[in-house]
Amino acid sequence: MQKREKPEKSTGFIHSIETMGTVDNGGVRFVLFMQGCAMRCVFCHNPDTWLREGIEVSVDEIIKQVLDYKVFFDVSGGGLTVSGGEPLLQHRFVRSLFEECGKNGVHRALDTSGYCRHGDFVSLLDCTELLLFSVKVVDPEKHLKLTGVDNSVILSNLRAAAAAGTEIVLRYVLIPTVNDSESDLRDLAELVSAINDRGRVKVDILPYNRMGLVKWKQLGLNCELQEFPEPTPEELRRARETLRNRGVSLRTGKT
Ligand code: SF4
Repeated sequence: MQKREKPEKSTGFIHSIETMGTVDNGGVRFVLFMQGCAMRCVFCHNPDTWLREGIEVSVDEIIKQVLDYKVFFDVSGGGLTVSGGEPLLQHRFVRSLFEECGKNGVHRALDTSGYCRHGDFVSLLDCTELLLFSVKVVDPEKHLKLTGVDNSVILSNLRAAAAAGTEIVLRYVLIPTVNDSESDLRDLAELVSAINDRGRVKVDILPYNRMGLVKWKQLGLNCELQEFPEPTPEELRRARETLRNRGVSLRTGKT
C-alpha cells in the first residue's frame, strides 16, 4: 500500500510580524516570528517565544500580507524570513507558506537553530532558498550547558543542508567568556571547512547584546543566567580576523 503524505498545516502559532525588516538578510524582509522553542539558551534574546501558545494565523492570511510587500521585495532583493522561536517546530505550516511564496516568486529564508527531528528539517530544504542557521557553540559539552540540549542532531541537520547545496549563513552570536575562545573559534572554522565543499556556507559573527534581559525580567526568569558582557568592537574584529585567517568566508565585510 502506498504511504500517504501527511497533509500540510494551514494554520500556525506566531509571536509577531515585522513587515519592513532589513537586518535578517539583504533587501526588505517580511519577518514572521513563530512561537515555540525546545531549547533554553541562557543568553536567549526572545524567551517570550519559548512557549507554543501564540496568535493563531492561517497560511492564506499571511501570504496575503506578504504579497502586499512584493513590490518592495522585487526592487530590494528581499522576501520572506521565517524566524522564531524555532520555526521548525511548525514545519508543516512553514512548508505550506513557503510553497505559496514559491508560486508567487517570493524569496524564502529560514532562520533556525536546527534543533528538531532530522526528517522535519530535511522536509523544508527543497523550498528554502537561504538558511540562516544559528550555531551557539560547537563543543558538545559547552552546548549542553548553554542551551540545555545536545547538539548532535543540530550538526547532523546542518550537514544535510550543506550536502543538499542550500545557501547557508551560519550565525554565531559572539559572547565574551562564553564562546569566543581560540578553541571555540577553531572548532567553528573546522566545522565550516568540513561542510563547505560546495562553497555555499558563510559565517556571520554577531555581537551579543543584553537587550533580552528586559524580557527575562518581565517573565520572572532568572536573570543571573544572562549576566554576560557584550563584546567590544576590538573583540569582534579579532574574532572575525581569526576566522578569516582560518579560511572562513564571512558574510559581512566588517572587521
Ligand atoms: S534557540 Fe533561539 S529562541 Fe530558542 S532558546 Fe535559543 S536563542 Fe532562544
